[in-house]
Amino acid sequence: MKEQKGIQREGRLTLDFIDEMKQIPGGEQIALCIQCGTCSGSCPTSHLMTHTPRRLIAMTRAGMRKEVLESPDIWLCTSCYYCYVRCPRGIKVTDLMYAYKRLSARDKFGIQKRGYKLGKIFMSVVNKYGRNNELELLAKFFGFANPIGGIKNTFIGLGLFLKGRLPLKTHKIKDLGGFKKIVNKAEELARLP
Ligand code: SF4
Ligand code: SF4
Repeated sequence: MKEQKGIQREGRLTLDFIDEMKQIPGGEQIALCIQCGTCSGSCPTSHLMTHTPRRLIAMTRAGMRKEVLESPDIWLCTSCYYCYVRCPRGIKVTDLMYAYKRLSARDKFGIQKRGYKLGKIFMSVVNKYGRNNELELLAKFFGFANPIGGIKNTFIGLGLFLKGRLPLKTHKIKDLGGFKKIVNKAEELARLP
C-alpha cells in the first residue's frame, strides 16, 4: 500500500528516541513539555525553520529520530536563550538544541549541513586565536562550505569591511594555552558515549 505523505509507519519510527534524549546532557527534561509553543513563538529564527523547537520536541516524542537529526533546523539555533527563559515548564530548550546537534554530529546526520560546517570552522578559528576573527571565519565558511552564498553576500561583506567590522589585523588572547585547556575539558565533558 502506498504510504500517505506526512504519515509515518510505526516500523519506521524510533520509539525509544525520547529515552535516548533523556540520557544526554540537555535532554533530561524533554518529557515535561506541554506543547504550548512559547519557545517557537519566541525564537528569532523560527520563521526560517520547517520544524520549530516545539515541533522538534513533538517529533522526538513520536520517535522521528532520523527526521529530527537530519533537520537543518537544529543548526539554525543561535543560542539566544529566549526560549530557555520563557518556557513555562522550565525546560532548557537551548540545551535541548545542543543535544540534538551533538547527536546529529556523532551519528553523522549533520556533517553535510552548513550550520555544522560553520560551527566547525568557528571552533577552529577560536582555537587558533582564543577569540573569533570574523574575516577568517567568513573567508573559510564561504570559501569551503558555501561559495554561492559568498557571491550573494559580497556587498554585505564589503559594507562591513568599509565600516571596520571585518578587521584585517588579528588579535590573539594572552593565555591561549590556558584557553585551549578549558575548551578541551568542555569537549571532553560534552562527548557522547
Ligand atoms: S515553551 Fe516549553 S512547554 Fe512550551 S512548547 Fe516549548 S518546550 Fe514545550
Ligand atoms: S535559543 Fe535557539 S531555539 Fe531557543 S529561541 Fe534562541 S534561537 Fe530559538
